[in-house]
Amino acid sequence: IMQLYTPLNFFGTYYRMIQQNFVDMEKMLDLFEQEQTVQDMPNATELTVTQGHVVFENVSFAYDERQPALRNISFTIPQGATVALVGPSGGGKSTILRLLFRFYDTQSGRILIDGQDISSVKQVSLRKAIGVVPQDTVLFNDTILYNIHYGRIDAPEDDVMKAAAAAQIHDRILTFPDGYDTKVGERGLRLSGGEKQRVAIARTILKNPPIILLDEATSALDTTTERHIQRALAEMTHGRTTLVIAHRLSTIVNADLILVIKDGQVVESGTHDELINHAISTGEEGVYYEMWQKQLKDENTEATANNSEVSS
Ligand code: ATP
Repeated sequence: IMQLYTPLNFFGTYYRMIQQNFVDMEKMLDLFEQEQTVQDMPNATELTVTQGHVVFENVSFAYDERQPALRNISFTIPQGATVALVGPSGGGKSTILRLLFRFYDTQSGRILIDGQDISSVKQVSLRKAIGVVPQDTVLFNDTILYNIHYGRIDAPEDDVMKAAAAAQIHDRILTFPDGYDTKVGERGLRLSGGEKQRVAIARTILKNPPIILLDEATSALDTTTERHIQRALAEMTHGRTTLVIAHRLSTIVNADLILVIKDGQVVESGTHDELINHAISTGEEGVYYEMWQKQLKDENTEATANNSEVSS
């Protein structure tokens, strides 16, 4: 699971959490640990995003120098396009996202946003341009309004509700006992996985960044929730440059480019049709073809399971 937290308004939120005695020490330690890994260069400049064109250029990285995590990764995400990362566990997908958010610096190669090397820009300006939707969203022990507002703390309330509507969660919130003022989190109303995800999407829509990093949830959702999530994701990623660790067939099939990441390398790349057609025409079934077959089988099993739940 990707460990990414948005440090946007970090100190404000930190202060607020201390103030309200809601400090979750483990999460705070994670935040600090992530914060310390890279430092701005003395002459760091502000990142200026004109388009949101992302380039990985021969990127290599190792957490431990004895064992490279990424080897010579190159790809481009044109403005507004979606690149999906798929592949076996431990292959390096999360690492690619972490490097673009600059939790770590590359060992060699460069990552460019609109031509600017991200290692030479101010981290604050980089992170302002990137929205992160992790698999597991941390909710603050506060109102649902605050939890979405956190995406852009100075946004008018009306915009918060618009973002919630775009994320397909507004109507649900209106059914909560105190509507937008309902307390959520550990000590309040416990939201389902699908609801928490839509809160994260609403936050990101409110933040309105040109670039999005998304780690799709792996958990199986019922058909209605799945449809809501798909619509919310479509609203969020529309017109925004997106790098996604993809688990959902719909995302994978619609991606502009799929990169199959294995042992820190891009082992196959192309659109879904290209990868499947290549496998069929050459008879080389490959990593993607096998994953696709397995996913189809799993989805069928799930569908059957869901149906039998409904009928029983
Ligand atoms: P998954 O699908 O299971 O999330 P992934 O493709 O995202 O996997 P990464 O999390 O990027 O894979 O991990 C790539 C490699 O780097 C793995 O061998 C992993 O053990 C290692 N790794 C990941 N995070 C760290 C870390 N913080 N310190 C040391 N090694 C790490």
